[in-house]
Amino acid sequence: MNIQLIKLTDEAGRIKALTRLDAQTYSSEASFNHITGLLQLALEMEMVTISLITADKQILKARQGFNATETPRKYAFCNIAIRKYEPLVIEDTHQDARVRDNPFVTGPPFVRCYIGAPLTTVDGYNLGAIYAADSKPRKFTEREVRITSKCAKLVMNQLELRSQANHDFLTEVFNRRSFVSGLERELARLRRSRGTAVVAFLDIDHFKGVNDAFGHPVGDRVLREFAGIVAGQCRQNDLVARLGGEEFAVLLTDTDLESAQIWADRMRTQVAETRFDGESAIKVTLSVGLAVVDETHSTSDAVTKMADSALYEAKRLGRNRVVTP
Ligand code: GH3
Ligand code: MG
Ligand code: MG
Repeated sequence: MNIQLIKLTDEAGRIKALTRLDAQTYSSEASFNHITGLLQLALEMEMVTISLITADKQILKARQGFNATETPRKYAFCNIAIRKYEPLVIEDTHQDARVRDNPFVTGPPFVRCYIGAPLTTVDGYNLGAIYAADSKPRKFTEREVRITSKCAKLVMNQLELRSQANHDFLTEVFNRRSFVSGLERELARLRRSRGTAVVAFLDIDHFKGVNDAFGHPVGDRVLREFAGIVAGQCRQNDLVARLGGEEFAVLLTDTDLESAQIWADRMRTQVAETRFDGESAIKVTLSVGLAVVDETHSTSDAVTKMADSALYEAKRLGRNRVVTP
C-alpha cells in the first residue's frame, strides 16, 4: 500500500500532527478569514468555513455564514472529506446516502450542497477541510474544485508558518514569544477566575562546559533531550518554552507554589540522574527559579522578573537547586 494512503487511516499520527501545528488552539484570525472570504467570493456560496477534526469534535474556524463553533465529529461532512486527498463534492445532499440523514441536512442550516478540500500536512495527514456549503443544490465546475483545493493549500501554509513562528527550531518546544503571550493569556484568565499558576525558569548549570568538552553539536543534542524530559513532565495545559540558549520556562497552570516545588524538585532530580547523549553519558544539573502567578500581577514582566531573580538566587547559592521567592 502507498505510504501516503496509510496516513489516511493513521488516526494517532493525525492527532499528533494536529497537536504539532497547535491547529485546535487558533481562534478566527484575519489571515484565515481572508481565505474563507476569498472562497466565498469565488464560489458565491452561503457558508464557508475551516473545519478541524479532533478525536471527537469538529472545530469550526474563520466562519462565514455559519454560527456554530464546534459540532460532534460524527455529523461533520469534513469527517468524510478527510478520508481522501481529493476534494469531496456533494452536489445534492438529498441524493447522497452518506449525508441524507445528517442533522445539518434535515435541520438548520439545511445543507443541500457541499464542497470540501482536505487540509493535508506536508507529511500526508488530513487535519480537516476547508469547505463551502449552501442550502440550494448546485453543480461544481472543475475550476471551482481547483480553487477550493488551492484555498486548502493556503490554509496549510498559514498553519505551518504559524507553527514555525511559535516554536523553537532546535528543541521544538514553544519559543519566548509564545511563552510571553501564553503567560499574558493566563494572567487575563486568572483575573476572571481566580486561582494560581506558577512560572518556573530552568537553566542548565555550567552548560558552556558541555560545549567546551564535547562540542556544539553534542550540546545541541543535550538541549533537545533536555526539552523532551521537561515536556514529558508537563500536563497538556502547561506551556514549555525555550527562552534562549540553555534557559527554559514552564508555565504550570492550575498549580500552587507547593505543588510546583515538588514538580521542580522531581525535574531537578530526573535531570541529575539522566545520562545525556547515549554513549557520551553526559551529566548536567539544573537550577530552577519559581514565581507564583495570580490575579494581583498585572503584567507578564513582573512575573518573569520574579522567576528570574529566584533563578539568579539558585545560581548564587551553588546551583542544582530550586528557589522560591
Ligand atoms: P551557569 O551555570 O551560570 O548557567 O553557566 P552556563 O555555562 O550554563 O551559562 P552561560 O550563560 O555562561 O553559558 C551558556 C552557554 O550555553 C553558552 C553557550 O555556549 C551555550 N549555548 C547557548 N545556546 C546554545 C545552543 O543553541 N546550542 C549549544 N550547543 N549551546 C548553546
Ligand atoms: Mg546555564
Ligand atoms: Mg543561562
